[in-house]
Amino acid sequence: MDDNCSNQVAKQTTNSVVKQTPACIGRFAPSPSGPLHFGSLVAAIASYMVAKSNGGRWLVRMEDLDPPREVAGAAQQILTSLESFGLYWDGEVVYQSQRQSLYQQKLEELIRQKIVYYCSCSRRAIENRNQAVYDGHCRGQLKADRLNSQAVRIMFAGGFECFDDQLCGHCQFYSKADKQDFIIKRRDGLFAYQLAVVCDDIEQGVDHLVRGMDIIDSTPRQNYLYHCFAKAPPIYYHIPLVLDGAGRKLSKSSGAPRLNENNKTDLLLKAFSHLGQKVDAAMLDADSEELIAYFEKHWQTELIK
Ligand SMILES: [Zn+2]
Repeated sequence: MDDNCSNQVAKQTTNSVVKQTPACIGRFAPSPSGPLHFGSLVAAIASYMVAKSNGGRWLVRMEDLDPPREVAGAAQQILTSLESFGLYWDGEVVYQSQRQSLYQQKLEELIRQKIVYYCSCSRRAIENRNQAVYDGHCRGQLKADRLNSQAVRIMFAGGFECFDDQLCGHCQFYSKADKQDFIIKRRDGLFAYQLAVVCDDIEQGVDHLVRGMDIIDSTPRQNYLYHCFAKAPPIYYHIPLVLDGAGRKLSKSSGAPRLNENNKTDLLLKAFSHLGQKVDAAMLDADSEELIAYFEKHWQTELIK
């Protein structure tokens, strides 16, 4: 057998065992700081529908990186609520609190690239230098000082302000944070949200990222991390926020009320209508599973405004 031929055989064998990559993987990633509220239900539905209407998979990940902010039992409550609304996830639920070794391994990749450094500046020290943003004072500090708890920062010069969003079009973002080296591991040893979320989305193969507009300003920093890990960023969909009567984002911290699950059909219809979807009058009496099944067929992402 010559080399060409054996290569071909090897190729064929590989092809037959490699599973086809799903066209689309989406996720919902709540932080378990309270029960599901209407704003998070809307985010769950939008991410579910974008994935499912494309024949893809929908994952659930608990963003429980910050133990003091967690509420005991909230993670389980959120999962129970999702199921009661007919939103069933694919695969196992992933908990960020159990993924320290993944984040550490990815951090070490960045250390090897020499694009991160240890920063011992306190917030007050930075303010005393009269800097509006972090000034790169500790750049070049490549060894951890064991006596001091230090943050790890990544060198960031911007250049990632422009990106395309399926709902918002071409975005150009200049936030204060995009002009400074940002923290990827905190002084208290916790990994920062920006690093964890990118590592998880890469590792889980998330390629369709649906989330609230309130996080859109993280996108340039996250796209930079994708670049550092030599990965393509996902396709973004930043959805309109649900506001309360005072025009503030509905959130756990602003005391969003717990969903009344006796009223699931109404809540789902309200959520679909917030997402611009047309509701057929025949569906007004449907139960939640029927509604989810209906919208899996009739969902139109382009109607979201
Ligand atoms: Zn510093």
